[in-house]
Amino acid sequence: MLDYNASVLVIYTGGTIGMIEDPETGTLKAYDFSHLKEYVPELSRLKFNINSIQFQQPIDSSDMNPEQWKKIVWIIEDNYDRYDGFVILHGTDTMAYSASALSFMLENIGKPVILTGSQLPIGKIRTDGKENLITALEIAVDKDPDGKAFVTEVCIFFQSLLMRGNRTTKINATYFKAFNSFNYPILAEAGTHIHYRHELMHRPLRNSKPKFHASLDPNVTIIKLFPGISAEILKATIAIPHLKAIVLETYGAGNSPNEKWFLNIIAEAVNKGIVVVNVTQCASGSVDMMRYESGKALKDIGVVSGYDITTEAAVAKLMFLFGLGLDHKEVKTYMKVSIAGEATVE
Ligand code: ASP
Repeated sequence: MLDYNASVLVIYTGGTIGMIEDPETGTLKAYDFSHLKEYVPELSRLKFNINSIQFQQPIDSSDMNPEQWKKIVWIIEDNYDRYDGFVILHGTDTMAYSASALSFMLENIGKPVILTGSQLPIGKIRTDGKENLITALEIAVDKDPDGKAFVTEVCIFFQSLLMRGNRTTKINATYFKAFNSFNYPILAEAGTHIHYRHELMHRPLRNSKPKFHASLDPNVTIIKLFPGISAEILKATIAIPHLKAIVLETYGAGNSPNEKWFLNIIAEAVNKGIVVVNVTQCASGSVDMMRYESGKALKDIGVVSGYDITTEAAVAKLMFLFGLGLDHKEVKTYMKVSIAGEATVE
């Protein structure tokens, strides 16, 4: 049900969606979002209030980082009571990382926070941006007859699909269907009407207020295994000063080389207090360290299973947990449970 008194805050961070073509040079440049309605006149036909705020310097999302995530959290915190929902316009390249980070930083929210963007600029005639933006806005104000928001979590809306933010991955650099949620079902699909799967939504704890977390620890890295990975590479990585966690992208169900030198270096990292999380390189499916001997060897040396978490969400969750000031033992404990619907834990 659309509430005509509702208000949405659009937060424009940058990315292709907010670009127009310079008629002289043909290059893409960011435009002033206070003129949003000039480029998307359809917005004036939506019967609810839309305000927008933009980053002083809109960025290509390749430049996204924890400092920018904090800015988004502050904007939402400052405006939380004034708006029914939030739409974040963001480049697609790192949108899955941002959606994951925000899902942890915006704890216990009872309102929709929808990230969207586009593959073609909104100023291009064949843009996918208008449809993504207009439907994201509708989702941001959609409520049940009791006035409760249908969506109470951080999501990505793209190409008619509403997905849990921390389950998404960018899958295509060219075509409009740019995101997928391989390990969690789609939360809503937009067709002639928007069909929500209410039973799948992440809900805030009853009688608890939202918490806005704006401290992250970026001392996290990713190691993607490949046949031929050398001891030098691994040793250099674990020697990085202040490194607190490694997302180890393993093969299949969580497997790695079974050779002594490899396991010894990983064991050395674990013994130094570095949290090593086992995440599969496969697009879908889960880590199961008891399935093969090589997975079990990792478990035995203290590597933690990431289950079916994405690399994007694992990185964001580790930054978030260490940002809370937790020690490595506490972080390991929280990596074994799902805190914002990011993993399916057996
Ligand atoms: N490079 C752009 C960005 O992520 C691509 C996009 O917006 O889709 O900001």
